[in-house]
Amino acid sequence: MSITILVVEDEPAIQELIALNLSFAGYSVQRAATCHEAQTLINQALPDLILLDWMLPDRSGLQLARQLRSEPRTQAVPLIMLTAKGTEHDKVEGLEAGADDYVTKPFSPKELLARIKALLRRRAPQLTDDQIQLGGLLLDPTTHQVLGQGIKLSLGPTEFRLLHFFMANAERVFTRGQLLDKVWGDHVFVEERTVDVHIRRLRKALQPSGHHQHIETVRGTGYRFTAQAAHS
Ligand code: CA
Repeated sequence: MSITILVVEDEPAIQELIALNLSFAGYSVQRAATCHEAQTLINQALPDLILLDWMLPDRSGLQLARQLRSEPRTQAVPLIMLTAKGTEHDKVEGLEAGADDYVTKPFSPKELLARIKALLRRRAPQLTDDQIQLGGLLLDPTTHQVLGQGIKLSLGPTEFRLLHFFMANAERVFTRGQLLDKVWGDHVFVEERTVDVHIRRLRKALQPSGHHQHIETVRGTGYRFTAQAAHS
């Protein structure tokens, strides 16, 4: 699954430079030159990360950042502010508005890519290719392999994404709605009971090594992956 990054930048040359570098690095890129354009794209589908310029023609990027952080649907989106403003005070203001990181222009594409990778690792580890090892279960996004106590487990693509998300966010409880947003994508309309179907399939796929017990049903709330399963 490709990672989508929304670039909100009104200077065409900089927008082009960023977009090219992101594409070369394997990201899907969306572009906006104003807050209004950005908002329209965000309403259609939530990107996986937003690069947001501070000075934009219609509103300031700071205002958009605050707005994104105040709405439940967008409040957790990884956000990096891009700006020529480099004083300490401005940085603090950017971070207080909800930016996760801050890159001062002019920046090298290499630095920007490194910041993006670090932020994704921190905020959305299920989007990176890092191997995850937890509770005797090993998941490798590069090879799409899952090993349970050394036993190769066979998972369908949706079950793999679901397990990847669970393992990257272990111990946290997610509602069916949250799982749909995070694993299926928030622009996809799927009924909530679809989640139950895939949880059932996932548990079945994990059964050979006993790891089905790590997928817990939290009554009245949803599901979670726990590293310490209560073996019955
Ligand atoms: Ca600008």
